[in-house]
Amino acid sequence: LAKARGRAQFRFFDPAMASSAYAAMVMEGELGQGLERGEFELYFQPQVSARDGSVVGAEALIRWHHPARGLLLPGEFIPVAEQQRLMLAIGQWVLREAARCAARWHAMGLNVAPIAVNLSSMQFQAPFFAETVAQVLREEGVDGRLIELELTERMLMDDLPEVSGKLKQLSALGIRVSVDDFGTGYSSLGHLKELPIDKMKIDASFVKDLPGDRGSTAITRAIIQMASSLGITAIAEGVETESQRSFLALNGCDELQGDLISKPLSVKDFEVWVRDRRAAPHLLNA
Ligand code: C2E
Ligand code: MG
Ligand code: MG
Ligand code: MG
Repeated sequence: LAKARGRAQFRFFDPAMASSAYAAMVMEGELGQGLERGEFELYFQPQVSARDGSVVGAEALIRWHHPARGLLLPGEFIPVAEQQRLMLAIGQWVLREAARCAARWHAMGLNVAPIAVNLSSMQFQAPFFAETVAQVLREEGVDGRLIELELTERMLMDDLPEVSGKLKQLSALGIRVSVDDFGTGYSSLGHLKELPIDKMKIDASFVKDLPGDRGSTAITRAIIQMASSLGITAIAEGVETESQRSFLALNGCDELQGDLISKPLSVKDFEVWVRDRRAAPHLLNA
């Protein structure tokens, strides 16, 4: 406690420190505790076919029930976790939890696979990455075909043979791979075509300005066309309005994800949502 008070005084004398380094230092400790105490939860956001509105998957998104600060979104703590090895433990927890949910839903006959899991570059770069993933799935008795992993362009642009090797290991397990936030990174297209990628997620920053903005419509169309020519599924993220949805559907985008379809939901709410949607197919695209 004396130590904590000492830090608090330092913070008093240096406000800049308080907002960044000090806060990050406090949070690092809390993150480890949070993992031990079961303060993390996965929410799931449905992904649907742009053609008929049927559910084609869901993305797992982490939340933290912070004991003092309430429900925190990943943007508030994932960057801190990524500065230390703790991201590996959190990432493992996310994969295991998502795999358990996928298996449970599969057993219930709820058709929501694959469940997409976001990877941090630290996880992807770790030695024995694919072996670690395989081990978690084996321990949980989960078929790789129920799981999709989301990587960013940056993670794919490292050493080609190495990245390619890792993706092939995932493929062999039946795991699908998607490229998150596509269009915001710097991909070499030649590089991309060499990799076994299943899906491109058109970043929400382009979707946001559809259908009015010329640049965003051009980029969105180009991504959809490229994905289609490469035999890759295109999914738009952050779909919020009916006019965005119809633009995307008309332009051949395969799948949609966003608040228009559903916000990310807790496990219970997600199960109810999927059942309701099945029971009322006339509400598809609503
Ligand atoms: P992302 O993977 O691009 O996930 C999409 C984000 O957009 C999510 O934010 C989701 O809640 C939000 N979103 C979805 N539809 C809409 C919409 O219609 N409008 C708006 N305004 N937002 C929408 P969230 O859950 O806050 O996650 C933010 C980012 O944190 C994710 O971006 C992902 O990069 C990262 N993240 C989330 N969960 C994990 C995780 O388990 N592990 C790792 N490494 N990163 C994660
Ligand atoms: Mg994602
Ligand atoms: Mg994304
Ligand atoms: Mg995004």
